[in-house]
Amino acid sequence: MPAIETPVLIVGGSLVGMSAAAFLGHQGIRATVVEHHRGTAIHPRAALITQRSMEAFRTLGIERTIREESEKQFVQDGAVMAVETLAGRELAWFIANLNDGVRDVSPTVRLFITQKLLEPLLQQRAEELGADLRFASEMISFEQDLAGVTALVRHRDTGETHTIRARYMIAADGPRSRIREQLGIPLKGRGVLSNSITIYFRAPLAPVLRGRNLSVILVSNPMLRGFFRVEKPFETGFLVVNTTGDPAHPHEDLWTGLTNERCIEYLRAALGDDTTARTIDDVMKWNARADVAVRFREGRVFLAGDAAHVMPPYGGYGGNVGIQDAHALAWKLAYVLRGWAGEELLSTYEPERRPVGSLTTEQAFTRYVTREARYLDRGDLQPQVEDLNIEMGYRYRSSAVLAEPQAHDRAHANPREAGGRPGFRAPHLWLQPNVSTLDLFDRNFSLLIAQQGEGWRQAAASATRQVGVPLDAHKIECASFCDNYGVSGTGAVLVRPDGFVAWRAQSAPDSPERSVVRAFSAVLHR
Ligand SMILES: Cc1cc2nc3c(=O)[nH]c(=O)nc-3n(C[C@H](O)[C@H](O)[C@H](O)COP(=O)(O)OP(=O)(O)OC[C@H]3O[C@@H](n4cnc5c(N)ncnc54)[C@H](O)[C@@H]3O)c2cc1C
Repeated sequence: MPAIETPVLIVGGSLVGMSAAAFLGHQGIRATVVEHHRGTAIHPRAALITQRSMEAFRTLGIERTIREESEKQFVQDGAVMAVETLAGRELAWFIANLNDGVRDVSPTVRLFITQKLLEPLLQQRAEELGADLRFASEMISFEQDLAGVTALVRHRDTGETHTIRARYMIAADGPRSRIREQLGIPLKGRGVLSNSITIYFRAPLAPVLRGRNLSVILVSNPMLRGFFRVEKPFETGFLVVNTTGDPAHPHEDLWTGLTNERCIEYLRAALGDDTTARTIDDVMKWNARADVAVRFREGRVFLAGDAAHVMPPYGGYGGNVGIQDAHALAWKLAYVLRGWAGEELLSTYEPERRPVGSLTTEQAFTRYVTREARYLDRGDLQPQVEDLNIEMGYRYRSSAVLAEPQAHDRAHANPREAGGRPGFRAPHLWLQPNVSTLDLFDRNFSLLIAQQGEGWRQAAASATRQVGVPLDAHKIECASFCDNYGVSGTGAVLVRPDGFVAWRAQSAPDSPERSVVRAFSAVLHR
C-alpha cells in the first residue's frame, strides 16, 4: 500500500509549484507538494510580477499582503532602462514607470517583489488552504497507469523513502525538469543562449543611482552585457552577466574559469565607479535559453512553469507565465476531480497554455536580442508585441471555449480591445469602489447579464440543476458593460473560474435556458 494518497502531487515547491498548491487549495483540492530544498527560494530571482499574476493572487485573497510586502523591498513604479555603466552614460529608457498607461486595465498593478519574499506568502496561503507541503523531499522516480501516478520520494536528511499515489501529477520541477526528461518530451526553440551568472552583492549604491527610480537596469558596454536589480535601501542587489567581450562576437560561457576576482571585475565594469566598495555574497550559474516543451501533458502528468518553457529574463515573464499555467490548470483539475467536468477538459490545458508559452518565450528572446544580444539577430525575430498583450491579452483556443464564427485569427490583443470575445480574459470594470468584475470570477463559472437581460437568471439556475455544477448569475449594472463585453442590453456572457470568457450571447436568444445549458455542458465536456 502506498504511504500517502493525494488527488494531485506537485513536484517542485518553488514559485510555480507553490502557486499551484494555493490555487488548487482555493478550489478545494488539497494537493501534496514535494520540494527538494529545505524551504522556499533563498535567492531573489524573479521580481517583476505582472497584473495578470496579481489578479490570480487577488482571488487567493493575498493581493494586499503582497503589495504591502513589496513596498518593503523595492521602490515601486520604477523604470526599465539601459546604461553603459550605472554611474555613467544612459543609453535608453524602455519603460519610464512600470505602471504608466496600464492602471485602467486591471484592479491591480505590476509590482516588484522577489521570490524570496513572495514564496513564503504563497506557502502560507497554500497551507491555510490545506496543502500538504513536504520540504527536503526529492521525488526520485515515478510511473503512471490508467488510474494514477505512483512516485517514489526520498527524504534528504533521513534517507527514508516512501511512495505517494496521486490521481494527477504536476511537474513544477524547473528548467532541468527530470520529469519532462523521463517522459521523453523534448524542448524546441532557440536553445541555450549563454552560460549566464547572477552576482549577488552588497555596495552603497545610492550615490550611483542619483535618485533615479530604476526597477531593471540593463548594462551594455564593451566588457559585458547583463542587468542590475537593486533593493531598498540601495545597499544590496544583483548583477546578471549574460555575455562578455566584443558585443559582435561575445563570450557566452561565463562559467569556465569564474573566480571571485573576476566577479569583482564584472561589478566594477558595470558600476563604472571604482570608489564603490563591494562584497560578493553569492554567485548563481544558470542557462539563458529560449525553449518550449513540445508537449505540456503526458497521460496524467502536466508540465508547468520552467519545466514547460524556459526564457531569458528580458521582460520579466518566465515566472509569470508559470504562475498562470498553475492558475489555468488548477480549476480544470479540481472540476474533473470533483466529477463536475469530463476528463476531456484536461486535454484543453496544452492547446491553451502552449501557445502562450511559445509566444512569451519568443517575445523574451526578441527583447534579449534587441536590448542586449544583437549578434543573435538572424533576421527571424518575431516583431516586438506590446507588453500588455503578452501579459494578459493572449487568447485561448480550445474546446473549453465556444469561439464565434466571425472570430478574427489574432493570437493576442490589447486587453482593451479583447471586447469580451470568447477565449480572451474577461475585461476589468469597476462595479463599486475596489470591487471589479474580476472579483466575481472565483471558484464557480459566472453568467454576467446585461441590464435588460431577461430570463438569464432562471437559465443559470436551471443550468446549475441540470448540469449539477454551480453557475453564479450576476446582473451587471455598470453602464460600460455592454461596450466592454461586446453584448447588447439583453445579452449575457459566460465566464470560467479562471476569468476567461467561455461563451457569450450578444443578445437574448429564443431560449436563454437552452442556450446556457448547452454552452455550459459543452465547455465542461459533459
Ligand atoms: C536572474 C533572473 C531574473 C528573473 N526575473 C524574473 C522576473 O522578474 N519575472 C519573472 O516572471 N520571471 C523571472 N525570472 C524567471 C523565474 O525565476 C522562473 O521562471 C521561475 O523561478 C520558475 O519557477 P518554477 O517554479 O517553474 O521553477 P524553479 O524556480 O526552478 O523551481 C523548481 C523547483 O523544483 C524543485 N525540484 C526539482 N526537481 C525535484 C524533484 N525531483 N523532487 C523535488 N523537488 C524538485 C527544485 O528544488 C526547485 O525548487 C528570472 C530568472 C532569473 C534567472
